Amino acid sequence: MIWNTRFSTLALLLSVILVSYSSAEETVANDPQPRWWKGNIHTHTLWSDGNDFPEMIANWYRTHDYNFLALSDHNILSEGEKWMAMSTVLKRGGKDVVEKYQAQFGPDWVEIRGEPGTPKHEIRLQPLNEFRALLEEREKFIMVQGEEISGRFGSKPIHMNATNIKQVLQPVGGQSVVETINNNFRAVEEQAKSSGREILLHLNHPNFGYGVTAEEIAEVVSERFFEVYNGHPGIRHLGDDDHPSIERLWDIANTIRIAHLNSAPLYGMGTDDSHHYHGRGSSRNGRGWIMVHSKYLSPNHLLRAINQGDFYASSGVSLDEITMDEQSQTLSFKILAEEGVTYKTQFVGTLVDYDQTATVRTDKDGKPLAIAKKYSQDVGKILAEVDGLNPTYHLTGKELYVRAVVTSSKDHRDPSFKDQHQQAWTQPVGWEKHLDKKE
Ligand SMILES: [Zn+2]
Ligand SMILES: [Zn+2]
Repeated sequence: MIWNTRFSTLALLLSVILVSYSSAEETVANDPQPRWWKGNIHTHTLWSDGNDFPEMIANWYRTHDYNFLALSDHNILSEGEKWMAMSTVLKRGGKDVVEKYQAQFGPDWVEIRGEPGTPKHEIRLQPLNEFRALLEEREKFIMVQGEEISGRFGSKPIHMNATNIKQVLQPVGGQSVVETINNNFRAVEEQAKSSGREILLHLNHPNFGYGVTAEEIAEVVSERFFEVYNGHPGIRHLGDDDHPSIERLWDIANTIRIAHLNSAPLYGMGTDDSHHYHGRGSSRNGRGWIMVHSKYLSPNHLLRAINQGDFYASSGVSLDEITMDEQSQTLSFKILAEEGVTYKTQFVGTLVDYDQTATVRTDKDGKPLAIAKKYSQDVGKILAEVDGLNPTYHLTGKELYVRAVVTSSKDHRDPSFKDQHQQAWTQPVGWEKHLDKKE
């Protein structure tokens, strides 16, 4: 009896230990369910032309429901030792920029040297490998190293974001816009191979300086990603009389790729491209992001999910259960509704037998302009428009691709273009069967 009691007490004790041990273990799930992770992969800091310290910016994203962030400065990584003149920092970020920084991270964190009032008065920009330890938290928030490879062809800016890059890459040139993009793409691909990590290269803001036309984007078929929404107000999201809007440009490029180049379409990213963080300036944070469906919040897993198209772009609308059912050829998803808000979904695509008329734009003397041609309204046509929270589209088999764009009745919280509403963009589907038709 005594022995038994002792034994059962011991057993109880042991089981308590085991239970507490296993519950501690369970916090690292070995087969987690995929879930949505929110992130921005286009952000500028004082390391290039942004106006706040990198860890201040990262802390803003961390405390605003983001799960991952890539700081992507122009042709530089936040690494090594970099001191900035105090006068430059104050001029750019405002008189209280250092006070705010010290208040957030503490006086011992902030490194200042030199005599105040002299050119030697400098402040150190902390490298990513140092400050990430203050911000990262498992299954909550991670930093991914990024760079905006910022080059040009002639007067045309060609900017591409490399996410999860290991070593800085300086932009490389080429004999044309297409060659320039391809050359940079190859450099990134080589680094991905030699470093053994996923690196995502996406083409930024094609309408910025009208740098890249729809036809050129179509032609660089190795590039699979571009920004369907970039929150910088200077990137000409809506185009103009001579240039297609960013969304139309997406449809033109994807139509050319699938119908004529036997190539997969581009997927659309949403980003901030933020430079200004103090409530002044026009290029602010929090306007556009991506939601990625992945089991793990880790750089490789996020990028693999993006490569498979398991993500959507958003400027305010949240989605769930995005499904392309191959059996029934149905694209469907759920809109996570906000109270008192209504949603309109447009299913956009191009049909196999579309009107292929394309007119070259000319100047007033009839000289051809090196900008996107004018295409018929069959390209990127609205195939269906539905209200409600469970939009569904049945493919007839005639679509080269279909994508959905959801527009909320609610204004964007910080518009970057006129009359902007909150939106979400899903990736094109139904295109695979049109490739390799030659066989
Ligand atoms: Zn740029
Ligand atoms: Zn940028």
